[in-house]
Amino acid sequence: MSREVPKAAKLRPGVRFMDVGGMMHTTLTGACPDCHQAQAFDGAYRLHATCTNCGVRFERDEGSFLGALAVAYGLTVLLVAIAAVMLVVRWGLFDGLAFVLIGVGVLGVPLLYRSAKAWWLWWLWAAGFVLRDDDVAVKRPQDR
Ligand SMILES: [Zn+2]
Repeated sequence: MSREVPKAAKLRPGVRFMDVGGMMHTTLTGACPDCHQAQAFDGAYRLHATCTNCGVRFERDEGSFLGALAVAYGLTVLLVAIAAVMLVVRWGLFDGLAFVLIGVGVLGVPLLYRSAKAWWLWWLWAAGFVLRDDDVAVKRPQDR
């Protein structure tokens, strides 16, 4: 049995950062960054342990996706800043502006977190941290 290996999966880690189309696909659809054939997400925010199509392990170490939270937070700060500029330019400093911006900020993180997590997954894959269990060379003490 031979399975067709997607072009992106053949790229070496590091070179994968040039795969901008794959980055956009994974970020916007939540697809596996390695094969692009299956959904990486098992819910709104939760990932499958491994890809249901190609078998890469998405979260190798606990806390791998804390960076996604930082990315979502950063994007939300940017979103609040853009909203503030647009609202102030249009209506000036009006009563309730702070509450509107707080609302944008409170809703921003949960709305952007899935895309941020998908992008972070792509980033981990591009850097070479998302691999099949078979491809991870684990040297046990008795093998040395
Ligand atoms: Zn896959």
